[in-house]
Amino acid sequence: ASKKGGRACSTLFEENMLTDIRNEKALVRELRAAMLLRHLRVAYQPIVDVNGRLIGFEALLRWRHALRGVIPPDVFIPVAERALMIGEIGNYVLRQVCEDLPRLPDVKVSVNLSANQIAMPALQEKMLSILAETGTDPRRIVLEITESASLAANERIASQISALQDAGFRIALDDFGMGYSEFNQLRALPYDVIKIDKSYICALGTDHVTDVFVSAVVEIARRSGKNVVAEGIETEDDLLRANAAGCDRFQGYYFGKPVFLESIARERLDYSNKPAADAENSRVA
Ligand code: C2E
Ligand code: MG
Ligand code: MG
Ligand code: MG
Repeated sequence: ASKKGGRACSTLFEENMLTDIRNEKALVRELRAAMLLRHLRVAYQPIVDVNGRLIGFEALLRWRHALRGVIPPDVFIPVAERALMIGEIGNYVLRQVCEDLPRLPDVKVSVNLSANQIAMPALQEKMLSILAETGTDPRRIVLEITESASLAANERIASQISALQDAGFRIALDDFGMGYSEFNQLRALPYDVIKIDKSYICALGTDHVTDVFVSAVVEIARRSGKNVVAEGIETEDDLLRANAAGCDRFQGYYFGKPVFLESIARERLDYSNKPAADAENSRVA
């Protein structure tokens, strides 16, 4: 009986897997259509300094699916990676950001790159041609890279990143604290910015090791001339604690959620006076 049960289980498992594969195939088709129909849109989240002055935005991709509602990037980016579509999506995002830049306040915009994308041989040429076509200065773009085991170890990726930096892009190490061999990563690659993951920021003040870790990262950054951004600032307490740990750049819902271009008022560059974090009428993405 147990054998039979086992077989039934594995059949069910295979059926589930088939359904998953079919779902994923459908999602990939829909993702292609969404790009064509421009149902994929970039939202912008403010990054501020200690005085609450706007110093940048992070571009975050949103998919508004006609039937499934908003599909978060944590869901469709991995699908795009598996379908080898991440290069196309990355170019789409970069182009949209470059086209939006003239209508955004005059600060840097961060764009996320996935590790698979960085491994592509023609990445730099393609990115530079998008910048040239849109008349964009690479110094306005920060490329955010999420560390992964392979990054520092892979020489081709490392030299690709240095080449992008030489071309004028700034490079940020995203989600710091969440991956493998962090400090090795820092040593191997010439990052300009370190973004401390929100899971550390929200644990500040509740866990001594976290406090020490964040202070140490800030110290390393300061001594090696890098900037540190604290991600996931949701409350005034988060802000005070991150500031006490030495962070001097902040990003999070406390200052503003990601919003579409049309909701960014040119004149509202000052977040010091407790943000209209989500003004009633702003379109939160
Ligand atoms: P990320 O690059 O670390 O982006 C920060 C994420 O934290 C965003 O989630 C943002 O909406 C969220 N966030 C910001 N402030 C707060 C806060 O105060 N509290 C909390 N709980 N969350 C906050 P989102 O937009 O869902 O994006 C998730 C991830 O998807 C990103 O993480 C990034 O790795 C990836 N992603 C987004 N857009 C793109 C893209 O255009 N290309 C690539 N390759 N990846 C992207
Ligand atoms: Mg990021
Ligand atoms: Mg990330
Ligand atoms: Mg992050």
